[in-house]
Amino acid sequence: MPKQYKIIYRKSQCIGAGACEFAAPELWHYDKEKSIATLKDAKAQKTDEEEELIIDESALAKHLEAAQVCPVNIIEIYDLETGQKIHP
Ligand code: SF4
Repeated sequence: MPKQYKIIYRKSQCIGAGACEFAAPELWHYDKEKSIATLKDAKAQKTDEEEELIIDESALAKHLEAAQVCPVNIIEIYDLETGQKIHP
């Protein structure tokens, strides 16, 4: 089974920079009217506070790229098996 990772996006802390969508438009949508980003994947669990998504290793590089450009580091990535934080 491929390695899996968990994305936790601390949505309530989004400052609306839009960098995530710029880095990975296939993964992120930036809503200009609400000044907030959201994960595009339909499997993402969403509340007003947070969004969570489990991804396979094949998607890690692209998610990491988006997470790394977020100026407030609120896109967190964890190794699902060990719980170890990969980013930030
Ligand atoms: S880069 Fe970070 S702060 Fe900017 S829209 Fe995306 S999640 Fe929000």
